[in-house]
Amino acid sequence: MQKVFLNPKREYPTIRRHPWIFSGAIRNVQGSPEKGESVCVCDSTGRCLGYGSYSPESQIRVRMMSFDSRCPIDEKYVASLVESSVKRRTSYFSDDTTNAFRLAHGESDSLPGVIVDYYDGWVVVQIASALGEYWKDVIVKTLMACVPGIKGVFNRSDVDSRVKEGLSVDSEDVIGVLAGEEPPELIEICERGIRFFVDVRKGHKTGFYLDQRMARKTVASYAKDKEVLNCFSYTGGFGIYCANAGAKSVINLDLSKDALALAQKNFELSSSSCEMDFVCADVFKQLRSYRDACKTFDLIVLDPPKFAESKSQLMRAVRGYKDINVLAMKLLRPGGILATFSCSGAMTEDLFLKMLSDAAFDARCDMRILERTMQAGDHPVPVSFAEGLYLKGFIIQKGDTY
Ligand code: SAH
Repeated sequence: MQKVFLNPKREYPTIRRHPWIFSGAIRNVQGSPEKGESVCVCDSTGRCLGYGSYSPESQIRVRMMSFDSRCPIDEKYVASLVESSVKRRTSYFSDDTTNAFRLAHGESDSLPGVIVDYYDGWVVVQIASALGEYWKDVIVKTLMACVPGIKGVFNRSDVDSRVKEGLSVDSEDVIGVLAGEEPPELIEICERGIRFFVDVRKGHKTGFYLDQRMARKTVASYAKDKEVLNCFSYTGGFGIYCANAGAKSVINLDLSKDALALAQKNFELSSSSCEMDFVCADVFKQLRSYRDACKTFDLIVLDPPKFAESKSQLMRAVRGYKDINVLAMKLLRPGGILATFSCSGAMTEDLFLKMLSDAAFDARCDMRILERTMQAGDHPVPVSFAEGLYLKGFIIQKGDTY
């Protein structure tokens, strides 16, 4: 097998089981591995540390899939990774109130750059790494064999990061049926007994923000009899949970007409008598109009898209987060609740908290953290891979203003 030898000064993260090896950490490569091909990764003395997949065009030159020197990567091994990943979610399959969850979460399941989501029998894959593309057929075949009640596998690999890996972004390569049946236009799923339509062809990610499942439950617990503003609502997730939990009214605010149209359909699936509004507007502008009109709310959700794609965009992103958080804090009534999130991996929890402290100071109010949330457990994070902890959330309550 072809080998990659690490630079003695940069081998420590791999010894500590971090899955990414950057190009600068490599001293030399023995052989000429092709895109996605497996390599044996050796420390500077030549000792095998495990096996990874080579990506000649990416800054992340090798992604580790095995830290066991006796376990090289072959078809059988990749199939076993997929099977174990599905097996770890057995409890999700036996929960009869929820039928949409993640089956494989990239690095966390030793399948870097490979996401697999399950929507009531339909499985959607997103492949963003050379290794995922290299082993695609094995992954799909294994899913068809091991996922209980599987109806088909659909490809949603239309992600920009494929360009960095030198992978095709042509629509026929990244969107379409990979095996089994064609999914319906909208798949109806259930999350804790609440029904949603998911558009796996055109929706964000693979169709639904499964990672916010835990936060949706937490936020809903504050919603009874409340007037709620659900910013960046997408297809209504937080808003519909709040409506089901007895909120008095909910305004869902999003820039996307399509997302709001689906949010409306989703609301129609519920039997809630909540007063539900759908407003197509830019959150940055709409919060200002509410402020100018002296409108107030009891509960505000801020779940924006990723403002920082990388560390270089972080400072601009912090200003964006602060702007909407200051406005939301001002719009809250005394005792009101702000549920605020960041899904930017580059934004650490420390920095997010510092931003919230600055925002509260600018809004001239005391804010107390009541709870924190993170991505749901089907999106696990290896302790050796802190980058995986991308989704942060705080439930904070407004106190006195000064
Ligand atoms: N809270 C949602 C997920 C939000 S995803 C859930 O639980 O399902 C982020 C959403 O923000 C997307 O729907 C996107 O259309 C919307 N968005 C992005 N920028 C926006 C802006 N400036 N104003 C309003 N909505 C915006």
